[in-house]
Amino acid sequence: MSFNVNEKGYYGEFGGAYIPEMLYPNVEELRQKYLSIMDEPDFKAEFNQLLKDYVGRPSPLYFAKRLSEKYNTKVYLKREDLNHTGAHKVNNTIGQILLAKRLGKKRIIAETGAGQHGVATATVCALMGIECIVYMGEIDIARQAPNVARMKMLGAEVRPALSGSRTLKDATNEAIRDWINNPVDTHYIIGSAIGPHPYPDMVTRFQSIISEEIKWQLKEKEGRENPDYVVACIGGGSNAAGTYYHFLHEPEVGIIAVEAAGKGVDSGHSAATSKLGKVGVIHGCKTLLMQTPDGQITEPYSISAGLDYPGVGPLHAHLAQSGRGEFFSVTDDDAMNAGLQLTKLEGIIPAIESAHAFAVLDQKKFKPEDIVVISLSGRGDKDLDNYIDYFKL
Ligand SMILES: *Cc1c(COP(=O)(O)O)cnc(C)c1O
Repeated sequence: MSFNVNEKGYYGEFGGAYIPEMLYPNVEELRQKYLSIMDEPDFKAEFNQLLKDYVGRPSPLYFAKRLSEKYNTKVYLKREDLNHTGAHKVNNTIGQILLAKRLGKKRIIAETGAGQHGVATATVCALMGIECIVYMGEIDIARQAPNVARMKMLGAEVRPALSGSRTLKDATNEAIRDWINNPVDTHYIIGSAIGPHPYPDMVTRFQSIISEEIKWQLKEKEGRENPDYVVACIGGGSNAAGTYYHFLHEPEVGIIAVEAAGKGVDSGHSAATSKLGKVGVIHGCKTLLMQTPDGQITEPYSISAGLDYPGVGPLHAHLAQSGRGEFFSVTDDDAMNAGLQLTKLEGIIPAIESAHAFAVLDQKKFKPEDIVVISLSGRGDKDLDNYIDYFKL
């Protein structure tokens, strides 16, 4: 079975490009050119140089000694939290801005929920001196003031989405509307492994640097390239896709995906898409989607803003349906406690998104000789207020 995208843009039955006709020229231009541009030697050189000198890659693969002792297995952390801007998202925005330049685009748009992808996009636009407009729900603008300030300081214009629930999904709709109206000069930087083909594959390839590094780093430390398990949290699925990519077709590597169960999978306040989702179309992509019986998208919930997306990327829907991936759901409470535990045992405060991945250590028993690599997708600085409120610090 293949876990790469096929020529039509599908992973199994998931993926494709379900877009309004007016978007077709933009998406088609990208589809025809993304692979050849990414393959150009000067593209690769510039991408790798920026990952090294600007982002700070390679990110370390850190053996977590005290955490390993506690769970009697070998736990390694892939330190995406040490990247410039604090998470894995910048790997993708660097790749896409370089692509946009080669497509002759003069203007960048993006959607953002909590503001992390907006900040990563505004950052690379500042770096390249390109105009940047970030769509953000009015409610999120009020909730995420520090990230709004960051984006403005970086020179981006933050445009409020005033319709619907005034959150991420509405910001995405506004961004799509903008792209339809500006098809020639604008590139839309999507922030996760979602959206119409070729976005899920393109974002996955930019993030695949994560598993590329894990392979040689593990070879150096353990004498073998393949761990027994790779673990990552899933919002739309970009840090997970990057962490899995070079192991997808290595059957001895177990793939573990962790979704946000919010207040409980069946509580009505959750984002556990693999458990609750049905096949549907969201933002141009056929995938598993939380929806009502008549097909209305259900509002997702998680304490971590980066995981409350009502769908998953099409690769992950395929991993779930085929059984190649093992899916776990982690509640707010379990994630918060896993985040505090990592802080106390290793001196690392994780993003609450990433903390979900660590909670798997309490749900699954690993063998003492197992090598388990966990994607530490981001740092917890942005979540301090949440930690303070939750633990009454
Ligand atoms: C945005 C974010 C996520 C979720 O996005 P994916 O595309 O699923 O990776 C996870 N962790 C952190 C730190 C984030 O900022």
